[in-house]
Amino acid sequence: MITLSDLQHIDWQTIDWQNELQNNINSLDKLKEYIDLTVDEEAILRKVVDYHPMNISRYYLSLIDPNDEKDPIRKQAIPSGDELIVAGSMGETTQDPYGDDKHNKGNGVLHKYPYSALIVATDYCSMYCRHCFRKAIVGLPNDKVVDNFAKAADYIRSHPEITNVVISGGDPFLISTPRLIKMLECLIDIDHVNFVRIGSRTPVVYPMRFFDRDLLDYLKQFNRRKALYVPTHFNHVNEITDIAREAVLKIKEAGITVNNQAVFLKGVNNSVTAIEALMNGLTKIGINPYYLYQCMPVSRVRHHFQVPLQAGIDIVDQAKERLDGYAKRFKFIMGHDIGKIEICGRIQDKLILKQIHARPEEPEKASRMMVMQLNDHAGWLDDMQQVKSI
Ligand code: SF4
Repeated sequence: MITLSDLQHIDWQTIDWQNELQNNINSLDKLKEYIDLTVDEEAILRKVVDYHPMNISRYYLSLIDPNDEKDPIRKQAIPSGDELIVAGSMGETTQDPYGDDKHNKGNGVLHKYPYSALIVATDYCSMYCRHCFRKAIVGLPNDKVVDNFAKAADYIRSHPEITNVVISGGDPFLISTPRLIKMLECLIDIDHVNFVRIGSRTPVVYPMRFFDRDLLDYLKQFNRRKALYVPTHFNHVNEITDIAREAVLKIKEAGITVNNQAVFLKGVNNSVTAIEALMNGLTKIGINPYYLYQCMPVSRVRHHFQVPLQAGIDIVDQAKERLDGYAKRFKFIMGHDIGKIEICGRIQDKLILKQIHARPEEPEKASRMMVMQLNDHAGWLDDMQQVKSI
């Protein structure tokens, strides 16, 4: 039987990415082969995986320190009984914190800001992150995924105000190379689309995907015709391994810019040293730290992952004091239903916010400043009273 320590000695660069998906740990029986669970734990986790299935790549599992119950990789990958708590101590929750449903144009197209369109290309990921804000669709039956990509491209073609397209999911890099190529080709001749983003956690949780020569050759060729960006999702410095670095280098060798969108998570990166190490680790391998998202009020996530804003802004500010200019470029962000809001800082018990993207129906809200009354437990915009709008 293969153990966790055996996994740590696999040369992942030689592994066929498609075959390896068959070895994913997607049941508690498989998990027990690697991690000890008590009878009580197992009974609780069986209930949890009914709500949000488990899928962990052997590569990502191999990063766990089996002697550390609080290991940050473990917390992101292995289900926890806390997921049975729908809301809990941090406040109310929703399955749709970012307003996806309101801006759903059908056929997997979300049009949330005039200039950006997002296509939900798949509901599959090589790892189902326990903190995922699309927990309601990832790995579950749903009608939110694109059915006909050419038709989704037609929607974009008929909206000249759209300057950029995000292909998201789920994780688009888990789509086979020929199918992904077909999708991208649908966008190439739309002149008003300046650039395309492929949002993916694959460089973090499944880096062997980027040893597929056909994929890289095509991405390079696409990028010469239309600018391509890969926003990725590293949350902890332990995820920045040699093979993750190799994967990122291969994407960058294709001329593609890689930006990181981390999520601020209790028990994963909610300390000054963790944020400092993560941002320095990213710039060291040539990734731009772009966003640090405040964990959204997602059902079965918020209670055990969200950090109160008062503590959070102090951690972020103190980390920024230690970071060089490139490592501190990231914005601390709330991805709110009303649009993106930057958490700029605090003056005593007042939190200073700036809305940086507004929904099409409320354009006047873009670029407004807000001053909110902080309290110890507020974790989201709606938990605070507004003192002033500028
Ligand atoms: S890879 Fe992204 S979409 Fe998939 S489970 Fe993780 S956070 Fe969610």
